[in-house]
Amino acid sequence: MTPFSFNRARDTTQALELARHGARYLGGGTNLVDLMRETVERPAALVDVTGLSRDITDTPGGGLMIGAAVTNSALAAHPQVRTRYPVLARAILAGASAQIRNMATVGGNLLQRTRCTYFYDAEGSRCNKRQPGQGCDAKDGFNRIHAILGASDACVATHPSDMCVAFAALDAVVHLSSATGTRTLPLTDLHRLPGDHPQLDTVLEAGELITAIELPSSPLAAHSTYRKVRDRASYAFALVSVAAAIQVEDGHVSDVRLALGGVAHKPWRATRAEAALRGQAATPDTFRAAADAELAVAVPLRDNGFKIELAKRTITAVLAELAGVDA
Ligand SMILES: Cc1cc2nc3c(=O)[nH]c(=O)nc-3n(C[C@H](O)[C@H](O)[C@H](O)COP(=O)(O)OP(=O)(O)OC[C@H]3O[C@@H](n4cnc5c(N)ncnc54)[C@H](O)[C@@H]3O)c2cc1C
Repeated sequence: MTPFSFNRARDTTQALELARHGARYLGGGTNLVDLMRETVERPAALVDVTGLSRDITDTPGGGLMIGAAVTNSALAAHPQVRTRYPVLARAILAGASAQIRNMATVGGNLLQRTRCTYFYDAEGSRCNKRQPGQGCDAKDGFNRIHAILGASDACVATHPSDMCVAFAALDAVVHLSSATGTRTLPLTDLHRLPGDHPQLDTVLEAGELITAIELPSSPLAAHSTYRKVRDRASYAFALVSVAAAIQVEDGHVSDVRLALGGVAHKPWRATRAEAALRGQAATPDTFRAAADAELAVAVPLRDNGFKIELAKRTITAVLAELAGVDA
């Protein structure tokens, strides 16, 4: 590991001040410290931001405001999350292990980096995300876990977070602070597709700090769920995951939210499927047709073609479960 300095911030103002010369923020360290050990990341300075808000509070609009330093465990266990946003509690509990969830923060989960094995292999593999312009060994390598949607010639990595897939389906809003002020961003606009600049995971400016995530009020969200398909029942990242919320009236889909994980460089909001579902009869055929519409633009690599059918079947099964019909 490369030597680095370490400071602890009491609050947002101090965090921004301490980070103004290029330091990296440190949440629970469950991702960043791993990457430092592997020499994928070599920050010269760290600012511990676990002293920032750990509050989960009601908003005037009927939603929830979640402090960036709230741990994954605390968020999943919160009674309001479990009852009003079950998709979020389920997504978090589908990730990592209890010990990691106890350490990991919401801010850190949003900004965790890809689990592409070529990205982690700093000594032996080429990776445009790790070293821009170097090439991508995943594209023609063993790419079973890689992207089928929105990838580029430069990068086929996926975003590994489960929590973010639920946030994408819930229209969550990210609250940010920087030396120049504050701003908000829909979660679906935070992460980037790789394009020609896969080294950039997000649209954040250097030094910008996540201070909170806001969940808008949503009656739909109470009727939501998360399903994660993976190689092992625990401690494995998603091959494909589905976050969904649906409202059925008189046998027809009156409203729906759908997002996919494990398939793209960012949590994938399934807008094509949502459009194909609204107003239609809530039947397995409709659900399958919506899944077909979403995956029509999927491009498989050598080893991950199975993800296309897996995603379609998982979408169909999850919607059928929520709608109370046999798939
Ligand atoms: C063995 C293992 C299995 C795992 N399995 C899963 C899984 O199945 N699903 C899943 O979703 N995750 C999984 N994870 C990932 C885990 O959820 C993340 O490591 C964790 O959420 C990161 O949170 P952290 O607070 O530890 O982040 P850190 O490691 O501290 O930081 C991660 C990144 O976020 C930045 N950062 C942290 N806080 C802020 C902030 N407030 N503002 C701006 N930037 C910030 C850091 O600079 C860093 O770049 C797994 C991890 C491990 C080690």
